Amino acid sequence: ELDYGKRPLFDYLKEAAEKHPNKVAIHFLGKELSYKQIYVDALKLAQQLSKLGLKKSDRVAIMLPNCPQSVIAYYATLMLGGIVVQTNPLYVERELEHQLGDSGAKMIICLDQLYPRVAHVKEQTKLEHIIVTGIQDYLPFPKNILYPFVSQTKLPKKREFRDLTHVHVFKALLKQGQLSISPVEISPEDDLALLQYTGGTTGPAKGVMLTHKNLIANTEQCRHWMYRHKYGEEVILGALPFFHVYGMTIVMNLGIMQLSKLVILPKFEAEEVLKTIATQKPTLFPGAPTMYIALINHPNVAAYDLSSIKTCVSGSAPLPIEVQQQFERLSGGKLVEGYGLTEASPVTHCNLIWGERVTGSIGLPYPDTEARILSLETGEEAGIKEIGELVVKGPQVMQGYWKRPDETEKVLKDGWLYTGDMGYVDERGYFYIVDRKKDMILASGFNIYPREVEEVLYEHPDVKEAAVIGVADRYRGETVKAFVVPKAGQTLSEEDLNRHCRKHLAAFKVPHIYEIRDELPKTSIGKILKRELIAEEQHRHL
Ligand code: ATP
Repeated sequence: ELDYGKRPLFDYLKEAAEKHPNKVAIHFLGKELSYKQIYVDALKLAQQLSKLGLKKSDRVAIMLPNCPQSVIAYYATLMLGGIVVQTNPLYVERELEHQLGDSGAKMIICLDQLYPRVAHVKEQTKLEHIIVTGIQDYLPFPKNILYPFVSQTKLPKKREFRDLTHVHVFKALLKQGQLSISPVEISPEDDLALLQYTGGTTGPAKGVMLTHKNLIANTEQCRHWMYRHKYGEEVILGALPFFHVYGMTIVMNLGIMQLSKLVILPKFEAEEVLKTIATQKPTLFPGAPTMYIALINHPNVAAYDLSSIKTCVSGSAPLPIEVQQQFERLSGGKLVEGYGLTEASPVTHCNLIWGERVTGSIGLPYPDTEARILSLETGEEAGIKEIGELVVKGPQVMQGYWKRPDETEKVLKDGWLYTGDMGYVDERGYFYIVDRKKDMILASGFNIYPREVEEVLYEHPDVKEAAVIGVADRYRGETVKAFVVPKAGQTLSEEDLNRHCRKHLAAFKVPHIYEIRDELPKTSIGKILKRELIAEEQHRHL
């Protein structure tokens, strides 16, 4: 029996802090914080946010890389019945303004480095307060350090905001914070906990409305799927960002629900991750395919002991089989593929960790999750191994898109979420994703799924990464173009790639154009940004 919907999300942190106050919750760049410390600081921050006027259902943007503050700010907001708006620290002003404006966020908790960017858009939003925190706030370093991956490369001078009554310093708020907050009535079933903005592949980014129950349900489902008796035992590597729903659920919320130690990194950097695995010995490492690709191809990978890793879950994009096998060989752990989307908090499917897993499949639907494949022609349930759109229903499915009933109607029908992904199911109930509906290439009347072509490219021994898109073609409607990144020290030629593809693919699927690059554009969790490649192509033909 899975239990969700009865307690608000922050209750799990409270329980952990009360029962196991000294257990380490977070390891961050050498510093360890206990469950009690995290909970106490979240309470203090909540008390201060309430003093600044935060009320139930107000939105609070959090614009932080993984750090203790990102966890504390999240739980503090939830304690007051506030709605978290996770904001990618890499957002430029245009994206930030859209997200803050659309969500109507009243406050933002951001990295001090990002202050100029926030200050610049403030007038166009409903922001009343800006709370700044330095990445070093919980570290023993005497000097301020810079988070190296946002374009702002200078810390703002304190005097820039010293006299501004709407700007507050996180550390100072905690100093003044008290441990008592007025209790807020929260209905986990109805009250929103999160507005999680989608990447905006299909127009302006939309806020996915997720309740406390949605998030708890998905965390419980993950826990049920992965564990039996491991409360307090797991060490989770938090290389996925918490501002993305995947890292938020499967690292932060799952970790806290399970009383795990979270070893968190502000950014994925292959050598840093290898070092952290060797020294901190995490047992669970949720990631995205490009993360595993970066690790297996790292020139020093053999020098690190990765054997603490028992389980890895890969989601967010297809996991090439080659990559799965190589990573398992290197670590000795199991790497299983799962599937999800922001609109489902996010996980809906996963392979079995102990039982049989099917390579190339996203596995079985989670407990309490129904899944069907609907034929694109008839809208009826498709037969075994017949390709159609994957639709899902379950307690993790969103309430809709924030203030966009028309968009909601397009994807939520009678409680079923239309995922926009094409797939099929086999006779044993295992699901497979063939590709996104919108990425399908139509060349001379043939449907081509880029993923199939990418899989073949990944089998080439010198290919590190591959992305395949459709580009406009006067004769065939569309034609197949492949972007390929060679492994370090290797060179690739078009002739060689073409020979390889011809051997493994029907002629109509073989790329007509190859572009060999040093790297490919990626999202915050390392998903290859095809939309950027497509936009580049369109631009080129203007
Ligand atoms: P946007 O918000 O712009 O639509 P996005 O679609 O990448 O971006 P997410 O919710 O982050 O938004 O990702 C969900 C999508 O990721 C799924 O719809 C699916 O296309 C893809 N995906 C996730 N897991 C897998 C997997 N195991 N195999 C193939 N595709 C996957």
